[in-house]
Amino acid sequence: MSEAPLVAGIELGGTKINCILASGPDTIEDEVRIPTTRPEETLAAVEAVLDRWSGFVAIGIASFGPISIDRHASDYGHITSTPKPGWAGTDIVGRIRSRYNVPVGFHTDVVGAALAEARWGAAKGLADIAYVTIGTGVGAGMIAGGRPVDGLTHSELGHIRPVRVPGDDWLGVCPFHGACLEGLVSGPAIAARTGIAAEDLPAAHPAWETVAQAIGQLLHTLVLTGIPRRVVMGGGVMVGTSHLFPSVRAAMTRSLGGYITLPEVALADSYVVPPALGGRAGPLGAIVLGAQALGEQLQSSFTAP
Ligand code: ZN
Repeated sequence: MSEAPLVAGIELGGTKINCILASGPDTIEDEVRIPTTRPEETLAAVEAVLDRWSGFVAIGIASFGPISIDRHASDYGHITSTPKPGWAGTDIVGRIRSRYNVPVGFHTDVVGAALAEARWGAAKGLADIAYVTIGTGVGAGMIAGGRPVDGLTHSELGHIRPVRVPGDDWLGVCPFHGACLEGLVSGPAIAARTGIAAEDLPAAHPAWETVAQAIGQLLHTLVLTGIPRRVVMGGGVMVGTSHLFPSVRAAMTRSLGGYITLPEVALADSYVVPPALGGRAGPLGAIVLGAQALGEQLQSSFTAP
């Protein structure tokens, strides 16, 4: 029996919203899915779910991005520059906070997944990890000391420019950078390049080599930050193609060139791992975000003058 308090978690995804009332994976009281449509309609549907629930002491929101997570900024809690119709500039946190008198935690869906995998999943027991998603988009979230690694804004490591495979000059599909990581290895990029959806592309197809090499560059970069003790990799492209794990691990090791001799990184099979929580990582991450917001509020009530 868990004595952790109930939190309302909302994973705000580009196509669907997962709402969950829980204190962890073993104490899920209710779970509701809502399609993501226009902001007004969608947020009203989320509020209808929250209105029906009782007993939660905090709300956590793990959202698609980009979002503003700077608490000192006037647009804190907003979706910022998404191309998703109607959503750019939408105030999420202000609206939810004004309706429910509980602390509200807010971060990206990828950081939410990192928090959940560290708490209950494939990186259980580790406080310093990265979660990478390779799917419709590419993103990486890092946590250190159990908290999101935040500064000016959230990480956008899905848009690094990887070193290309010699002779590969394909232009890529990122509207901002062309052949950045997302422009090379996202599901839509693989489909645009090969004419075949990633999950149907044969393991022997030469395009996989360029994909693995590019993802290896992201892993190289994550190792060099000195933060993650493990990297959990999810998203449709990774999860749908088991042959990709061995090749991205090999690409990371090759790219690092023996520079990092730490045993954690040398043991690539246990350093780069698939997720353990599946589709629940997002909503459970929102639960952690809500619990952390509650903890911060309690802490500030003790330290306030
Ligand atoms: Zn890009």
